[in-house]
Amino acid sequence: MLFRSLNCLPNGVSIINEDYRVQFENAWQQDRFGNNIGQLCYKVYRNRELPCQNCLIKESIEHNDTEWSEIKKSDGRYYQLVAMRMGKFNGKVSGLKVIVDITERKITDEKIKKLSRELRKSNKRLAHLALIDSHTGLYNHRYLKKIIGVELSRAKRHAYPFSVMMLDIDYFKSINDAYGHQFGDLVLRQLARQFKQSMRQHDVVIRFGGEEFIIILPRTDKLNGTIIAQKLLGAVKSFRFGTTQNTVKIKLSAGIVSYPENKVVKGIDLVNLADQLLNKAKENGGGRVYASIDANDEKEVFLEEIGRAHV
Ligand code: GH3
Ligand code: MG
Ligand code: MG
Repeated sequence: MLFRSLNCLPNGVSIINEDYRVQFENAWQQDRFGNNIGQLCYKVYRNRELPCQNCLIKESIEHNDTEWSEIKKSDGRYYQLVAMRMGKFNGKVSGLKVIVDITERKITDEKIKKLSRELRKSNKRLAHLALIDSHTGLYNHRYLKKIIGVELSRAKRHAYPFSVMMLDIDYFKSINDAYGHQFGDLVLRQLARQFKQSMRQHDVVIRFGGEEFIIILPRTDKLNGTIIAQKLLGAVKSFRFGTTQNTVKIKLSAGIVSYPENKVVKGIDLVNLADQLLNKAKENGGGRVYASIDANDEKEVFLEEIGRAHV
């Protein structure tokens, strides 16, 4: 009666005695793996010459407990094994082993794992894209907001200087007016490339808005930041932007602020101050770098050393 019920199960059931001999197999087991009654289980089920290490049947008999494990057979299918002690069978202590084909579940699990890995990757990609300006490939305003405070805290913690340069193209509207918006777009892309090529590896170039940019210069004090800004303005001034048919030259204005020279509380204060300096540079004719609003500020006097820097 019991064996008839076992034969109806949709999983494999076998009874194996303490000498590893197979005593009984239900119909499912025999359909899948053949009739192995009387054989050594490790030979017929696992193709081994010696009993398996951590044999589930042996352990369930010794510990009088239920033992579980998972295996992958040479046919690539996955099985879950459950073994439990069942007392004497045919005169010897035996264990009952149930084998369940879990291949479909494993494949689904793998698919879910793969999908969630891909999802994590694409979320990361999306999060990164949200911080990039699609037109120039530079970081965007959102990225600036995210990192400016972090940069200031890091500079304070490690006691190193850092500078923020804000740049705006002079009379850019007139380029759009003369050659069209698309041409203006091209100039912006070319300028972004120039910035990336001219700046050092750790400098961060950001498109702040339309034709305004911010460059964060880690470990750079005001004097060096101003020298870098001057060089950049010089390089851009001599470059020809545009197409083979139409080329234009552009000039930039820049404001540069630095920690610790400028006393600021929040990272965004540096950006606001740089904006004020940039406006001042524009008011006084453009095409120049301003590093201080107050020309009498004695802390800024050292900037006189660098010729074209306006203090
Ligand atoms: P200023 O010397 O005072 O900086 O004057 P400006 O002509 O450069 O004008 P302003 O900075 O006040 O304004 C920016 C202009 O840049 C206005 C707009 O026509 C142009 N602009 C902003 N974003 C884009 C863009 O993505 N593509 C193009 N082609 N033009 C843009
Ligand atoms: Mg402008
Ligand atoms: Mg502008």
